[in-house]
Order: sequence, then structure tokens, then C-alpha cells
Amino acid sequence: MNPFVLPVLPGAPCRAPCVPTMNILVLNCGSSSAKFAVIDSASGIERLTGIAQRLGSPEASLDYSHSGQKHSQNLPGADHERGLRAAVQVMDDLGLRQSLGGVGHRVVHGGAKFAHSTRITPDVVAQVEACIHLGPLHNPPNLLGIRLAQHLLPGLPQVAVFDTAFHQTMPARAYTYPVPHQWLEQHDVRRYGFHGTSHRYVAQKAQEMLGFAAGQGCLVTAHLGNGCSATAVRDGQSVDTTMGLTPLEGLVMGTRSGSVDPALVGYVARATGQSADAVLDALNKKSGLLGLSGLSNDMRTLQEAAAQGNPRALLAIEVFCYVLAKQLAGLVVALGRLDALVFTGGIGENSAEIREKVVGLLGFLGLQLDPAANAQAVRGKAGRITASTAPQALVVPTNEERMIALDTASLVAGQ
Ligand code: AMP
Repeated sequence: MNPFVLPVLPGAPCRAPCVPTMNILVLNCGSSSAKFAVIDSASGIERLTGIAQRLGSPEASLDYSHSGQKHSQNLPGADHERGLRAAVQVMDDLGLRQSLGGVGHRVVHGGAKFAHSTRITPDVVAQVEACIHLGPLHNPPNLLGIRLAQHLLPGLPQVAVFDTAFHQTMPARAYTYPVPHQWLEQHDVRRYGFHGTSHRYVAQKAQEMLGFAAGQGCLVTAHLGNGCSATAVRDGQSVDTTMGLTPLEGLVMGTRSGSVDPALVGYVARATGQSADAVLDALNKKSGLLGLSGLSNDMRTLQEAAAQGNPRALLAIEVFCYVLAKQLAGLVVALGRLDALVFTGGIGENSAEIREKVVGLLGFLGLQLDPAANAQAVRGKAGRITASTAPQALVVPTNEERMIALDTASLVAGQ
């Protein structure tokens, strides 16, 4: 049977054989916020979602949503512990705490130590600590979230789900930088890749939509949000990705430049009298769509400005799409053939205009847009957006929290 003629099944459940049914608390602890969700692992139903934010400031608050109702509590001056304690109190009040089967933590950097999600033990905590030099901004708050959850929810199994783990299947030719080899041996300088939980989730969904057997097919997944990365997925495994040692490499993003000539750092530092660190900071926080347009890092704002003829917004969108198409085509080299290109993330799921431009630039691969289908696949709707049957382009809304809940439930159940 030709898998390309099978209908796309919008909203088909994630293929997860024998997923144990339990409520999982998914926790994503950042430097000044802690996002949380209580998710039924089998159905994916979100029983509670919320965020403790602006932690450490007078404006700290807990905002959450339950049964379609939004609630907010002011927590002036609250730190992470007070914010999470308040979240646990909400779970208590709603009778959800007793139903929890485990806690799944998003952990950004697992280095080369973690190729899979894992039950958290003292040894795992020590290994995540040993990756702090690779993820200095993210791993410390992730570890704080683990410690607080262990303290506030004693006895519950805890699981770490890493942004980097999915990319540990990349071959050496894809992860090794052409730099002095002792940088790798002594300082772990190599490509790791990020957004792995999202790429893994949408690749699984795309396989279902295409009617492929589990873990089959040659896909390029494009996660386009404020951060952007793309991954070549062959038979369910990441074989190359655009982000590298840090999330700065690769595609043009909201405020990150993506790949630029590394000599630019020293040149701009000398030309402007800034330190190399200040230039790197600007490449992370003042570049990308924001730097190109001088207006905003938000694609919606740029599309509106471009429609009014703003030349910098037009240029920003053009550079974004051109660099994206060029790197997507490059990833096909890692696969040898393309079955489907998958769009996800805020821009990938909602901007029919960006998808149209990118698919247009990739027409030489055989992709041919279906404009009506493309216009319809917005606001959380999955679907095929090409008239071509091989390769296809799909829109697949991502759901990293669901993936974390699935991994956690499977590990808790001992699978
Ligand atoms: P994320 O980081 O995944 O939340 O994605 C944020 C990005 O998605 C921002 O650049 C938003 O402007 C963009 N985005 C969200 N909705 C739309 C839309 N309807 N059209 C274009 N871009 C959108």
C-alpha cells in the first residue's frame, strides 16, 4: 500500500502502546518562573495548567487554569519555593495531588550523558549538575525544580526529560565541529541540539498521520517559535539538527541570530569597544527577527508591518524564510530522501504565509503547496498542506508537556 495516499488524521492520538493511565505533574522550572501542568498520561487531558511567574519580584504571581476557568493569586516577593508551594496547595484544594503518579521535569541540557528520559536518583542529579557548564542558564533552575518537587511531594517518583536526549543518536559526522579535537575531548565542545522533546513528539505524530509504521520514514521537522530549530529524523531517530553546542546555532530566531561567521564576534568587539561576551549577548538577545527589523521579535507584528510596506520587516521575513529553506534542504542530505516536512511551534503552526514562502523555496524537492489546506491548518489544527503526495508537508501542533507526561508514566510503570 502506498502510504502517501492515506488520509491525514487530524488530532489522531499519539501512538503510545500500553501507556499507563495516571496523572502526571509536568514541571518546567526556569530562572524566574515555573510552568506546571497536571496531565492524564493516557488521554493527554490537561486537568490543571499554570505558571508561577516573575518570581523573586514584587509582582510575583500564580496564574492557573482549571475546568476552563482562569485564576490568579498575587504572591509578592515569592521565590521558587513559595511559588511551587502555592501551586501544590492548588492541587491539594482540587483533589489532584493524591491522584499524581509522578513528576516529569523538563531538563534542558543532558550533555552526552543522557540519551533517554530517566528516573531521577541522586546519581542522576549529580550528572545533571555535571552538565551545568553546558547549560549554565537553564540547568540550575531545572535542578532547583527537582529539589523542590522532591521536598514538596515526597515519595512521588520523579523523571527527567532532556531537550538534548533525542539528538544523542546523531552520528559523529553530524555532531563533531571541525575544530581542534581536544576541545571535544577536554571541554565537551560538540553539537548537542535542543527542542528534542518537541521534535520527537511531532515526528511520532507525523508518522501516524502519514500511515507509516512506528518509527519509520524520513522526516524534517521544523520547530518555529521564538526559538527555532529543525531536525532530520530517520526512522524515528534524530540524525542531524540545526542547533549546536548552544541554542544559538542554526536558524534565524526571534532574538537569536542563528549561524553567523564566528569571526564576527572579535570583529564587532574591536569595532565597537565591547567585550566578546557583550557581542555574544547581542547575538542571543538583540539579533534575529528583532535585529533585522528593528521592530519586534514577534512574527505577527512583522507580518503586519510588512503588509504596510515596512522595508525592514519585509527584509526580516525574507531572511528568515531564506535561511530556513536553505537549512531544511541541507538536512535532507542527512536523510538521503524526504517523505515529509513537518511544521510546528507558534510560527509553524499558525503562519500560513511563512509556510507558503518556505514550501515555495523548496519546490525543487517536489513539494507543491495546497493553498486551501495551508490556510486551514492554523490555531492548533493538524493537517497536510501540500498537493504533492511525495514528499508532503504537514502541520503538527507540538505538545512537549504531553511527551514529558508519557515518558514519566512509562518510566514510573517500569516500561
Ligand atoms: P512560540 O515560541 O512557539 O510560542 O512561538 C512564538 C512565535 O509564534 C512568535 O513569533 C509569534 O509571533 C508567532 N506566532 C503565533 N501566532 C502567529 C500567527 N497567527 N501568525 C504568525 N506568527 C504567529
